[in-house]
Amino acid sequence: APMLDDQGNTVGIVATATDIGEAKRTEGLLRQAKDEAEAAARAKTDFLATMSHEIRTPMNGVIGMTALLGRTQLDPRQRECVDTIRGSGAALLKIIDDILDFSKIEAGRVELEEAPMSPATLVHEVAELLGPKAQEKGVRLTVDLDRSVPLGVLGDQQRLRQILTNLAANAVKFTDHGEVTLRLSARSVRQGYHLTFSVQDTGIGIPAERMDRLFQSFSQVDGSISRRFGGTGLGLAISRRLANLMRGRVWAESIEGEGSTFHLEVVLEPAETLTTNELEETQMMVGFRGLRILLAEDNRINQLVALRILEELGYRADVVTTGVEVLAQVHKGAYDIVLMDVQMPEMDGLEATRRLRAVDRSIYIIALTANAMDSDRQACLEAGMDAWMPKPITPKTLGAALRRAQIALAPKRRRALKKA
Ligand code: ADP
Repeated sequence: APMLDDQGNTVGIVATATDIGEAKRTEGLLRQAKDEAEAAARAKTDFLATMSHEIRTPMNGVIGMTALLGRTQLDPRQRECVDTIRGSGAALLKIIDDILDFSKIEAGRVELEEAPMSPATLVHEVAELLGPKAQEKGVRLTVDLDRSVPLGVLGDQQRLRQILTNLAANAVKFTDHGEVTLRLSARSVRQGYHLTFSVQDTGIGIPAERMDRLFQSFSQVDGSISRRFGGTGLGLAISRRLANLMRGRVWAESIEGEGSTFHLEVVLEPAETLTTNELEETQMMVGFRGLRILLAEDNRINQLVALRILEELGYRADVVTTGVEVLAQVHKGAYDIVLMDVQMPEMDGLEATRRLRAVDRSIYIIALTANAMDSDRQACLEAGMDAWMPKPITPKTLGAALRRAQIALAPKRRRALKKA
Protein backbone atom coordinates (compact mmCIF):
# COMPACT_ATOMS: atom_id res chain seq x y z
CA ALA A 1 0.00 0.00 0.00
CA PRO A 2 1.27 3.54 -0.69
CA MET A 3 2.53 5.69 2.22
CA LEU A 4 1.22 9.25 1.81
CA ASP A 5 2.28 12.61 3.35
CA ASP A 6 -0.17 15.36 4.49
CA GLN A 7 -0.59 16.65 0.92
CA GLY A 8 -1.40 13.21 -0.39
CA ASN A 9 1.93 12.62 -2.17
CA THR A 10 3.33 9.13 -2.22
CA VAL A 11 6.51 9.01 -0.18
CA GLY A 12 6.91 5.28 0.15
CA ILE A 13 5.19 1.89 0.12
CA VAL A 14 4.33 -0.62 2.82
CA ALA A 15 4.79 -4.28 1.86
CA THR A 16 4.24 -7.58 3.68
CA ALA A 17 5.54 -11.01 2.68
CA THR A 18 4.16 -14.45 3.55
CA ASP A 19 6.12 -17.67 3.31
CA ILE A 20 3.96 -20.05 1.20
CA GLY A 21 6.56 -22.80 1.12
CA GLU A 22 4.45 -25.02 3.38
CA ALA A 23 1.28 -24.50 1.31
CA LYS A 24 3.22 -25.32 -1.87
CA ARG A 25 4.58 -28.49 -0.33
CA THR A 26 1.09 -29.59 0.71
CA GLU A 27 -0.25 -28.85 -2.73
CA GLY A 28 2.51 -30.93 -4.27
CA LEU A 29 1.77 -33.83 -1.97
CA LEU A 30 -1.94 -33.65 -2.79
CA ARG A 31 -1.25 -33.65 -6.49
CA GLN A 32 1.06 -36.60 -6.13
CA ALA A 33 -1.54 -38.49 -4.10
CA LYS A 34 -4.17 -37.77 -6.73
CA ASP A 35 -1.92 -38.96 -9.56
CA GLU A 36 -1.11 -42.10 -7.63
CA ALA A 37 -4.79 -42.79 -6.95
CA GLU A 38 -5.62 -42.34 -10.61
CA ALA A 39 -2.79 -44.60 -11.67
CA ALA A 40 -3.98 -47.24 -9.20
CA ALA A 41 -7.52 -47.01 -10.55
CA ARG A 42 -6.21 -47.37 -14.10
CA ALA A 43 -4.09 -50.33 -13.10
CA LYS A 44 -7.09 -52.01 -11.47
CA THR A 45 -9.20 -51.45 -14.54
CA ASP A 46 -6.48 -52.68 -16.86
CA PHE A 47 -6.08 -55.72 -14.68
CA LEU A 48 -9.80 -56.47 -14.79
CA ALA A 49 -9.93 -56.01 -18.52
CA THR A 50 -6.92 -58.25 -19.12
CA MET A 51 -8.14 -60.85 -16.69
CA SER A 52 -11.60 -60.97 -18.23
CA HIS A 53 -10.08 -61.40 -21.63
CA GLU A 54 -7.71 -64.11 -20.45
CA ILE A 55 -10.56 -66.02 -18.81
CA ARG A 56 -12.73 -65.73 -21.87
CA THR A 57 -10.28 -67.52 -24.08
CA PRO A 58 -10.23 -70.87 -22.24
CA MET A 59 -13.95 -70.46 -21.53
CA ASN A 60 -14.59 -70.52 -25.25
CA GLY A 61 -12.83 -73.88 -25.31
CA VAL A 62 -14.96 -75.19 -22.46
CA ILE A 63 -18.19 -73.98 -23.98
CA GLY A 64 -17.37 -74.99 -27.54
CA MET A 65 -16.28 -78.48 -26.54
CA THR A 66 -19.32 -78.92 -24.32
CA ALA A 67 -21.52 -78.10 -27.28
CA LEU A 68 -19.70 -80.67 -29.41
CA LEU A 69 -19.87 -83.26 -26.64
CA GLY A 70 -23.59 -82.61 -26.32
CA ARG A 71 -24.08 -83.70 -29.91
CA THR A 72 -22.57 -87.16 -29.33
CA GLN A 73 -24.29 -90.28 -28.04
CA LEU A 74 -24.64 -89.92 -24.28
CA ASP A 75 -26.47 -91.89 -21.63
CA PRO A 76 -28.88 -89.92 -19.41
CA ARG A 77 -26.36 -89.35 -16.60
CA GLN A 78 -23.70 -88.15 -18.98
CA ARG A 79 -26.28 -85.91 -20.63
CA GLU A 80 -27.11 -84.37 -17.28
CA CYS A 81 -23.43 -83.65 -16.59
CA VAL A 82 -22.92 -82.07 -20.00
CA ASP A 83 -26.04 -79.91 -19.59
CA THR A 84 -24.82 -78.71 -16.21
CA ILE A 85 -21.40 -77.82 -17.60
CA ARG A 86 -23.06 -75.98 -20.44
CA GLY A 87 -25.34 -74.00 -18.11
CA SER A 88 -22.52 -73.12 -15.71
CA GLY A 89 -20.25 -72.17 -18.57
CA ALA A 90 -22.84 -69.80 -20.02
CA ALA A 91 -23.41 -68.24 -16.57
CA LEU A 92 -19.69 -67.76 -16.06
CA LEU A 93 -19.28 -66.17 -19.46
CA LYS A 94 -22.07 -63.74 -18.65
CA ILE A 95 -20.30 -62.73 -15.44
CA ILE A 96 -17.03 -62.24 -17.29
CA ASP A 97 -18.76 -60.17 -19.95
CA ASP A 98 -20.34 -57.98 -17.27
CA ILE A 99 -17.02 -57.44 -15.49
CA LEU A 100 -15.26 -56.62 -18.73
CA ASP A 101 -17.99 -54.22 -19.71
CA PHE A 102 -18.06 -52.60 -16.32
CA SER A 103 -14.30 -52.07 -16.25
CA LYS A 104 -14.36 -50.65 -19.76
CA ILE A 105 -16.98 -48.11 -18.77
CA GLU A 106 -15.10 -47.23 -15.58
CA ALA A 107 -11.91 -46.68 -17.58
CA GLY A 108 -13.76 -44.37 -19.96
CA ARG A 109 -13.10 -46.72 -22.84
CA VAL A 110 -16.67 -47.02 -24.04
CA GLU A 111 -17.48 -44.89 -27.04
CA LEU A 112 -21.06 -44.41 -28.02
CA GLU A 113 -22.20 -44.70 -31.58
CA GLU A 114 -24.63 -42.36 -33.23
CA ALA A 115 -26.63 -43.98 -35.97
CA PRO A 116 -30.24 -43.87 -37.13
CA MET A 117 -32.39 -46.34 -35.24
CA SER A 118 -36.04 -47.01 -34.52
CA PRO A 119 -36.79 -46.90 -30.77
CA ALA A 120 -40.08 -48.76 -31.26
CA THR A 121 -38.34 -51.61 -33.05
CA LEU A 122 -35.79 -51.75 -30.26
CA VAL A 123 -38.47 -52.23 -27.59
CA HIS A 124 -40.07 -54.85 -29.70
CA GLU A 125 -36.81 -56.75 -30.17
CA VAL A 126 -36.21 -56.80 -26.42
CA ALA A 127 -39.73 -58.14 -25.88
CA GLU A 128 -39.12 -60.80 -28.49
CA LEU A 129 -35.84 -61.78 -26.87
CA LEU A 130 -37.40 -62.26 -23.43
CA GLY A 131 -40.70 -63.68 -24.64
CA PRO A 132 -39.71 -67.34 -24.35
CA LYS A 133 -38.37 -66.94 -20.80
CA ALA A 134 -41.52 -65.10 -19.69
CA GLN A 135 -43.73 -67.69 -21.29
CA GLU A 136 -41.83 -70.48 -19.59
CA LYS A 137 -42.56 -68.79 -16.24
CA GLY A 138 -46.20 -68.11 -17.09
CA VAL A 139 -45.60 -64.35 -16.97
CA ARG A 140 -47.39 -62.20 -19.54
CA LEU A 141 -45.04 -59.90 -21.45
CA THR A 142 -46.61 -56.93 -23.21
CA VAL A 143 -45.41 -53.92 -25.15
CA ASP A 144 -47.11 -50.54 -24.93
CA LEU A 145 -45.91 -47.92 -27.42
CA ASP A 146 -47.23 -44.41 -27.22
CA ARG A 147 -48.32 -42.68 -30.43
CA SER A 148 -45.80 -39.97 -29.70
CA VAL A 149 -42.84 -42.27 -30.41
CA PRO A 150 -40.77 -40.98 -33.35
CA LEU A 151 -39.85 -43.26 -36.22
CA GLY A 152 -36.17 -42.62 -36.15
CA VAL A 153 -33.63 -41.15 -33.77
CA LEU A 154 -29.86 -40.99 -33.67
CA GLY A 155 -28.49 -43.19 -30.94
CA ASP A 156 -26.41 -46.16 -29.90
CA GLN A 157 -28.83 -48.96 -30.55
CA GLN A 158 -26.61 -51.68 -29.13
CA ARG A 159 -26.03 -49.94 -25.81
CA LEU A 160 -29.68 -48.93 -25.48
CA ARG A 161 -30.62 -52.51 -26.14
CA GLN A 162 -28.16 -53.64 -23.47
CA ILE A 163 -29.76 -51.39 -20.85
CA LEU A 164 -33.31 -52.35 -21.78
CA THR A 165 -32.45 -56.03 -21.91
CA ASN A 166 -30.94 -55.78 -18.44
CA LEU A 167 -34.02 -54.11 -17.02
CA ALA A 168 -36.43 -56.43 -18.77
CA ALA A 169 -34.47 -59.57 -17.88
CA ASN A 170 -34.51 -58.53 -14.21
CA ALA A 171 -38.23 -57.89 -14.39
CA VAL A 172 -38.87 -61.37 -15.77
CA LYS A 173 -36.38 -62.92 -13.35
CA PHE A 174 -37.96 -61.39 -10.26
CA THR A 175 -41.59 -61.95 -11.30
CA ASP A 176 -43.35 -65.26 -10.81
CA HIS A 177 -46.95 -64.20 -11.37
CA GLY A 178 -48.65 -61.50 -13.37
CA GLU A 179 -47.01 -59.47 -16.04
CA VAL A 180 -44.11 -57.45 -17.31
CA THR A 181 -44.86 -54.43 -19.48
CA LEU A 182 -42.38 -52.59 -21.68
CA ARG A 183 -43.49 -49.03 -22.36
CA LEU A 184 -42.11 -46.29 -24.55
CA SER A 185 -43.26 -42.71 -24.80
CA ALA A 186 -41.69 -39.57 -26.19
CA ARG A 187 -42.02 -35.84 -26.15
CA SER A 188 -40.39 -33.24 -28.34
CA VAL A 189 -37.72 -31.09 -26.77
CA ARG A 190 -35.37 -28.56 -28.27
CA GLN A 191 -32.57 -31.07 -28.94
CA GLY A 192 -34.88 -33.74 -30.37
CA TYR A 193 -36.92 -36.29 -28.48
CA HIS A 194 -37.05 -37.03 -24.80
CA LEU A 195 -37.67 -40.79 -24.73
CA THR A 196 -38.89 -42.63 -21.64
CA PHE A 197 -38.55 -46.41 -21.68
CA SER A 198 -40.23 -48.12 -18.71
CA VAL A 199 -40.19 -51.71 -17.57
CA GLN A 200 -42.95 -52.49 -15.10
CA ASP A 201 -43.35 -55.80 -13.30
CA THR A 202 -45.62 -57.39 -10.70
CA GLY A 203 -42.75 -59.24 -9.04
CA ILE A 204 -41.16 -59.42 -5.60
CA GLY A 205 -40.41 -55.70 -5.44
CA ILE A 206 -37.57 -54.03 -3.54
CA PRO A 207 -37.61 -52.94 0.11
CA ALA A 208 -37.50 -49.14 0.48
CA GLU A 209 -34.32 -49.19 2.55
CA ARG A 210 -32.44 -51.07 -0.19
CA MET A 211 -33.39 -48.80 -3.06
CA ASP A 212 -30.30 -46.59 -2.72
CA ARG A 213 -27.90 -49.53 -3.08
CA LEU A 214 -29.62 -50.86 -6.16
CA PHE A 215 -27.33 -49.28 -8.73
CA GLN A 216 -24.05 -49.91 -6.94
CA SER A 217 -21.69 -52.45 -8.45
CA PHE A 218 -21.79 -56.01 -7.11
CA SER A 219 -24.80 -55.20 -4.97
CA GLN A 220 -27.81 -57.39 -4.69
CA VAL A 221 -30.79 -56.71 -2.52
CA ASP A 222 -29.96 -59.67 -0.35
CA GLY A 223 -27.81 -62.76 -0.44
CA SER A 224 -30.66 -65.25 -0.37
CA ILE A 225 -32.08 -63.61 -3.49
CA SER A 226 -28.88 -64.02 -5.40
CA ARG A 227 -28.64 -67.66 -4.36
CA ARG A 228 -32.17 -68.21 -5.61
CA PHE A 229 -31.95 -66.18 -8.81
CA GLY A 230 -28.26 -65.97 -9.66
CA GLY A 231 -26.63 -62.86 -11.13
CA THR A 232 -23.63 -60.68 -10.40
CA GLY A 233 -25.22 -57.47 -9.21
CA LEU A 234 -23.53 -55.67 -12.11
CA GLY A 235 -26.43 -55.30 -14.51
CA LEU A 236 -27.94 -52.20 -12.97
CA ALA A 237 -24.58 -50.57 -12.27
CA ILE A 238 -23.67 -51.01 -15.94
CA SER A 239 -27.10 -49.77 -17.05
CA ARG A 240 -26.87 -46.62 -15.00
CA ARG A 241 -23.35 -45.84 -16.19
CA LEU A 242 -24.28 -46.38 -19.81
CA ALA A 243 -27.33 -44.16 -19.40
CA ASN A 244 -25.14 -41.47 -17.83
CA LEU A 245 -22.73 -41.72 -20.77
CA MET A 246 -25.74 -40.95 -22.97
CA ARG A 247 -26.50 -38.04 -20.67
CA GLY A 248 -29.65 -39.85 -19.63
CA ARG A 249 -30.66 -41.58 -16.43
CA VAL A 250 -31.98 -44.84 -15.06
CA TRP A 251 -34.08 -44.95 -11.92
CA ALA A 252 -36.54 -47.18 -10.15
CA GLU A 253 -39.74 -47.14 -8.16
CA SER A 254 -40.90 -50.14 -6.21
CA ILE A 255 -43.26 -51.43 -3.58
CA GLU A 256 -42.04 -54.54 -1.82
CA GLY A 257 -44.25 -57.49 -2.60
CA GLU A 258 -46.13 -55.65 -5.33
CA GLY A 259 -43.65 -54.94 -8.08
CA SER A 260 -41.14 -52.52 -9.53
CA THR A 261 -40.86 -50.08 -12.39
CA PHE A 262 -37.49 -49.17 -13.86
CA HIS A 263 -37.21 -46.14 -16.13
CA LEU A 264 -34.63 -45.15 -18.70
CA GLU A 265 -34.75 -41.57 -19.94
CA VAL A 266 -32.62 -40.21 -22.76
CA VAL A 267 -32.75 -37.29 -25.14
CA LEU A 268 -31.87 -38.23 -28.72
CA GLU A 269 -31.71 -36.23 -31.89
CA PRO A 270 -34.15 -37.03 -34.67
CA ALA A 271 -32.66 -39.18 -37.42
CA GLU A 272 -32.36 -37.41 -40.68
CA THR A 273 -34.88 -38.50 -43.26
CA LEU A 274 -34.68 -37.79 -46.95
CA THR A 275 -33.55 -34.28 -47.72
CA THR A 276 -35.75 -32.09 -49.85
CA ASN A 277 -33.20 -32.37 -52.60
CA GLU A 278 -33.27 -36.14 -52.60
CA LEU A 279 -37.06 -36.10 -52.60
CA GLU A 280 -37.22 -33.80 -55.62
CA GLU A 281 -34.68 -35.89 -57.44
CA THR A 282 -36.72 -39.01 -56.85
CA GLN A 283 -39.93 -37.37 -57.97
CA MET A 284 -38.30 -36.15 -61.14
CA MET A 285 -36.64 -39.43 -61.85
CA VAL A 286 -39.51 -41.87 -61.98
CA GLY A 287 -42.65 -40.22 -60.77
CA PHE A 288 -43.13 -40.33 -57.05
CA ARG A 289 -45.91 -42.18 -55.24
CA GLY A 290 -46.67 -44.10 -58.38
CA LEU A 291 -45.47 -47.40 -57.01
CA ARG A 292 -47.80 -50.20 -56.01
CA ILE A 293 -46.28 -51.77 -52.94
CA LEU A 294 -47.22 -54.90 -51.06
CA LEU A 295 -45.92 -55.23 -47.52
CA ALA A 296 -45.66 -58.80 -46.23
CA GLU A 297 -45.00 -58.71 -42.51
CA ASP A 298 -46.61 -60.75 -39.74
CA ASN A 299 -45.47 -58.72 -36.77
CA ARG A 300 -47.96 -55.98 -36.02
CA ILE A 301 -45.48 -53.47 -34.66
CA ASN A 302 -43.04 -53.97 -37.52
CA GLN A 303 -46.01 -53.52 -39.85
CA LEU A 304 -46.85 -50.24 -38.22
CA VAL A 305 -43.26 -49.04 -38.38
CA ALA A 306 -42.96 -49.91 -42.07
CA LEU A 307 -46.31 -48.30 -42.94
CA ARG A 308 -45.46 -45.11 -41.13
CA ILE A 309 -42.09 -44.86 -42.81
CA LEU A 310 -43.71 -45.48 -46.17
CA GLU A 311 -46.27 -42.82 -45.43
CA GLU A 312 -43.56 -40.37 -44.48
CA LEU A 313 -41.78 -41.09 -47.75
CA GLY A 314 -45.01 -40.53 -49.64
CA TYR A 315 -45.91 -44.13 -50.45
CA ARG A 316 -48.81 -46.35 -49.55
CA ALA A 317 -48.89 -50.12 -49.30
CA ASP A 318 -51.26 -53.03 -48.91
CA VAL A 319 -50.47 -55.41 -46.09
CA VAL A 320 -50.49 -59.20 -45.87
CA THR A 321 -49.11 -61.38 -43.10
CA THR A 322 -48.04 -64.71 -44.60
CA GLY A 323 -46.34 -66.05 -47.69
CA VAL A 324 -49.57 -67.71 -48.77
CA GLU A 325 -51.36 -64.36 -48.66
CA VAL A 326 -48.57 -62.78 -50.72
CA LEU A 327 -49.21 -65.25 -53.53
CA ALA A 328 -52.97 -64.69 -53.39
CA GLN A 329 -52.63 -60.91 -53.26
CA VAL A 330 -50.09 -60.64 -56.07
CA HIS A 331 -52.45 -62.73 -58.17
CA LYS A 332 -55.25 -60.22 -57.50
CA GLY A 333 -53.51 -56.88 -57.90
CA ALA A 334 -50.63 -55.64 -60.00
CA TYR A 335 -47.77 -54.74 -57.68
CA ASP A 336 -44.42 -53.24 -58.55
CA ILE A 337 -42.68 -54.06 -55.31
CA VAL A 338 -43.03 -56.58 -52.51
CA LEU A 339 -41.41 -55.78 -49.16
CA MET A 340 -41.01 -59.32 -47.94
CA ASP A 341 -40.37 -60.28 -44.34
CA VAL A 342 -38.26 -63.42 -44.33
CA GLN A 343 -39.75 -65.10 -41.26
CA MET A 344 -43.50 -65.46 -41.54
CA PRO A 345 -45.91 -68.16 -40.40
CA GLU A 346 -47.42 -70.69 -42.83
CA MET A 347 -45.00 -69.88 -45.62
CA ASP A 348 -41.83 -67.88 -45.16
CA GLY A 349 -40.54 -65.15 -47.44
CA LEU A 350 -37.99 -67.38 -49.16
CA GLU A 351 -40.55 -69.98 -50.20
CA ALA A 352 -43.04 -67.30 -51.23
CA THR A 353 -40.35 -65.70 -53.41
CA ARG A 354 -39.44 -68.99 -55.06
CA ARG A 355 -43.09 -69.63 -55.93
CA LEU A 356 -43.63 -66.08 -57.08
CA ARG A 357 -40.58 -66.23 -59.32
CA ALA A 358 -41.96 -69.34 -61.01
CA VAL A 359 -44.77 -67.23 -62.47
CA ASP A 360 -43.56 -63.61 -62.31
CA ARG A 361 -40.11 -62.30 -63.11
CA SER A 362 -40.88 -58.59 -63.24
CA ILE A 363 -42.01 -57.84 -59.70
CA TYR A 364 -39.26 -56.32 -57.54
CA ILE A 365 -38.82 -58.12 -54.22
CA ILE A 366 -36.99 -56.59 -51.26
CA ALA A 367 -36.21 -58.86 -48.31
CA LEU A 368 -36.72 -57.46 -44.83
CA THR A 369 -34.71 -59.45 -42.37
CA ALA A 370 -33.72 -59.22 -38.74
CA ASN A 371 -30.70 -61.38 -39.34
CA ALA A 372 -27.76 -59.29 -40.53
CA MET A 373 -25.57 -62.22 -41.55
CA ASP A 374 -24.09 -62.49 -45.00
CA SER A 375 -25.37 -66.05 -45.37
CA ASP A 376 -28.86 -64.75 -44.81
CA ARG A 377 -28.49 -62.22 -47.56
CA GLN A 378 -27.21 -64.93 -49.88
CA ALA A 379 -30.26 -67.09 -49.18
CA CYS A 380 -32.57 -64.19 -50.06
CA LEU A 381 -30.83 -63.47 -53.33
CA GLU A 382 -30.72 -67.14 -54.24
CA ALA A 383 -34.45 -67.47 -53.64
CA GLY A 384 -34.91 -64.78 -56.30
CA MET A 385 -35.18 -61.56 -54.33
CA ASP A 386 -33.74 -58.41 -55.87
CA ALA A 387 -32.54 -56.64 -52.76
CA TRP A 388 -32.04 -57.13 -49.10
CA MET A 389 -32.56 -54.83 -46.14
CA PRO A 390 -31.61 -55.54 -42.55
CA LYS A 391 -34.05 -54.46 -39.86
CA PRO A 392 -34.57 -52.10 -38.24
CA ILE A 393 -35.61 -50.24 -41.36
CA THR A 394 -35.28 -46.48 -41.28
CA PRO A 395 -36.68 -43.79 -43.58
CA LYS A 396 -33.20 -43.43 -45.01
CA THR A 397 -32.58 -47.11 -45.77
CA LEU A 398 -36.09 -47.80 -47.03
CA GLY A 399 -36.10 -44.61 -49.07
CA ALA A 400 -32.82 -45.58 -50.68
CA ALA A 401 -34.02 -49.13 -51.37
CA LEU A 402 -37.21 -47.87 -53.00
CA ARG A 403 -35.24 -45.43 -55.09
CA ARG A 404 -33.06 -48.26 -56.32
CA ALA A 405 -36.18 -50.29 -57.04
CA GLN A 406 -37.68 -47.45 -59.04
CA ILE A 407 -34.53 -47.12 -61.03
CA ALA A 408 -34.44 -50.84 -61.73
CA LEU A 409 -38.12 -50.84 -62.67
CA ALA A 410 -37.90 -47.90 -65.05
CA PRO A 411 -34.62 -48.19 -66.92
CA LYS A 412 -35.92 -46.57 -70.07
CA ARG A 413 -37.19 -43.50 -68.32
CA ARG A 414 -33.98 -43.18 -66.43
CA ARG A 415 -31.96 -43.22 -69.60
CA ALA A 416 -34.22 -40.63 -71.17
CA LEU A 417 -33.81 -38.38 -68.15
CA LYS A 418 -30.07 -38.77 -68.07
CA LYS A 419 -29.81 -37.65 -71.68
CA ALA A 420 -32.00 -34.64 -70.99
P1 ADP B 1 -28.13 -59.14 -11.01
O1 ADP B 1 -27.19 -59.61 -12.05
O2 ADP B 1 -27.83 -59.68 -9.66
O3 ADP B 1 -29.57 -59.24 -11.37
P2 ADP B 1 -28.54 -56.28 -11.17
O4 ADP B 1 -27.60 -55.16 -10.96
O5 ADP B 1 -29.22 -56.37 -12.46
O6 ADP B 1 -27.74 -57.59 -10.87
O7 ADP B 1 -29.61 -56.22 -10.01
C1 ADP B 1 -29.17 -56.02 -8.68
C2 ADP B 1 -30.23 -56.45 -7.71
O8 ADP B 1 -31.35 -55.56 -7.76
C3 ADP B 1 -30.82 -57.82 -8.00
O9 ADP B 1 -30.01 -58.84 -7.50
C4 ADP B 1 -32.14 -57.72 -7.26
O10 ADP B 1 -31.94 -57.95 -5.88
C5 ADP B 1 -32.54 -56.27 -7.46
N1 ADP B 1 -33.49 -56.11 -8.60
C6 ADP B 1 -33.20 -55.66 -9.84
N2 ADP B 1 -34.30 -55.62 -10.61
C7 ADP B 1 -35.33 -56.03 -9.86
C8 ADP B 1 -36.75 -56.20 -10.08
N3 ADP B 1 -37.33 -55.92 -11.26
N4 ADP B 1 -37.49 -56.64 -9.03
C9 ADP B 1 -36.91 -56.91 -7.85
N5 ADP B 1 -35.60 -56.79 -7.57
C10 ADP B 1 -34.81 -56.35 -8.56
